[in-house]
Amino acid sequence: MEKTKYSIKNHSKYLLIKFWLISTFIITVLIAQDKVLYLVNEEPTKMKRSDSEWKRILSAAEYHILREKGTERAFTGEYDGHFEEGTYVCAGCGNKIFESETKYRSGCGWPAFYNAIPESVQEHEDNSFGMRRIEITCSKCDGHLGHVFNDGPQPTGLRYCINSVSMDFNPSDKEEQK
Ligand SMILES: [Zn+2]
Repeated sequence: MEKTKYSIKNHSKYLLIKFWLISTFIITVLIAQDKVLYLVNEEPTKMKRSDSEWKRILSAAEYHILREKGTERAFTGEYDGHFEEGTYVCAGCGNKIFESETKYRSGCGWPAFYNAIPESVQEHEDNSFGMRRIEITCSKCDGHLGHVFNDGPQPTGLRYCINSVSMDFNPSDKEEQK
């Protein structure tokens, strides 16, 4: 009698351990799959905000250009003729998008760069206004920045034509570099 009691107790213990192992295994697989999906999407650091949140955070001009893909008037932008040393960041989320070393005088009326900071911007086909252009958006918040054209200087031959309103400027800290 005593022996049977013991074995039943042992058996339920075994079942409990089995159940625990199986659930741990399932949870691990689910977590791993989720991680794989995350890597496939390559968007682990995307900033998602609702339209009303953006309206609250951004100025009217920033909202129009970043979220409604507007364009500032040529030769009116704050950074068109701006050539200080530093980094240009997205006005929506602070993502570093252009270094001052890549900025040049294109004469097109908007700030122009021949290169973007790697992974900082994304390209999209834009066929609006009867033109075939490549739209540039911030890779972090998807804010509209401008367009990229193939008539830029070497070494890239690219011209990133960007709205000043879409950017903020951080002057390089000389003391920090020493
Ligand atoms: Zn951004």
